[in-house]
Amino acid sequence: MSRFFSEKFDSLMPYTPGEQPKDKKYIKLNTNESPFPPSPETLAAAEAELKRLQLYPDPDCSELGRAYADLIGVRAEQVMITNGSDEVLNLAFLAYADEEAPLIMPDITYGFYTSVAEYNRVSYEEIPLKDDFTIDINDYVAAHKTIVIPNPNAPTGIALELEDIEKILASNPDNMVIIDEAYVDFGAESAVSLIDKYENLLVSQTFSKSRSMAGARLGVAIANENVIQDLNTLRYACNPYNVNRVTAALGVAAIKTNSYYENNCRTIAENREYTADRLKEMDFQVIPSKSNFLLAKSDRISGEELYRRLKDEKGILIRHFNKERIKEYNRITIGTREDMDAFLKAVEEVLV
Ligand code: PMP
Repeated sequence: MSRFFSEKFDSLMPYTPGEQPKDKKYIKLNTNESPFPPSPETLAAAEAELKRLQLYPDPDCSELGRAYADLIGVRAEQVMITNGSDEVLNLAFLAYADEEAPLIMPDITYGFYTSVAEYNRVSYEEIPLKDDFTIDINDYVAAHKTIVIPNPNAPTGIALELEDIEKILASNPDNMVIIDEAYVDFGAESAVSLIDKYENLLVSQTFSKSRSMAGARLGVAIANENVIQDLNTLRYACNPYNVNRVTAALGVAAIKTNSYYENNCRTIAENREYTADRLKEMDFQVIPSKSNFLLAKSDRISGEELYRRLKDEKGILIRHFNKERIKEYNRITIGTREDMDAFLKAVEEVLV
């Protein structure tokens, strides 16, 4: 650290992204990316847009916002387009919580929440999941604090029922409830249908997972018009041109070819169930997932050793977390059927 760095960041712990190693080619099942490329139409739209790079992008991403709103059945004023859904979370934490008004979240969840809370000088409380890693919604009912919950949760993959989310929304009318739907397209039910009913609901979604665009950085905030206006006030104050022209064009084209991405999501969900069944046959404990990943552990090998040996001996990357409650588990992103067969064969060989 240099002597110029502000003291207010003395204890800031930055988020640790999943490994993106460059030493050799791995089967990459560690960062919840899609194994499928964007649709050809999406790629063609990006190429066409390159010719206009001398111009600033539309700071409101109006065309994309309208197309996305139509796709999910809301009004354009209820949508804000962002640079990945991490940007929604950053702006929302800043908007709705501070040192005196804490944010609450599950203890096992997306690691970015705690780092971006600290970055924004927001205090937070981590609410333990139950022993089976499900969320006890009673912890959030009438909590009277700003709430952030991923649905499905990560890295567990467990989804909440919409009626439980509604109980949380209805019992916290004076606090915002942020439902992070990064993985919703793989089998959970979206809370977007509740936007008109609950003014305290903010949903974040992303093109990173189900629409194969993690590298383009495209996210969406969905909420009632006034909430979106406030988030836009913050966004215009710090980064008005948050989404570049090429990414916005990719997004519009992706929506036009939505059925391609829906098919991919179905394939990934099938591959997830296939992989879960095979792992259970090898006596793994597999957490029931509605996402594009599985959290699993075996009594025959530690989480750390399985991760390490798959990486070093088999060229397969999965994600291991050091956090006490899940350190015997690994998170396995679901890839193509070929990827999953290679992973399962490698696990079998490591376990003999
Ligand atoms: N929420 C959760 C639960 C995630 O796992 C991720 C991806 N790491 C994100 C949000 C952010 O995704 P992105 O910024 O790529 O939209």
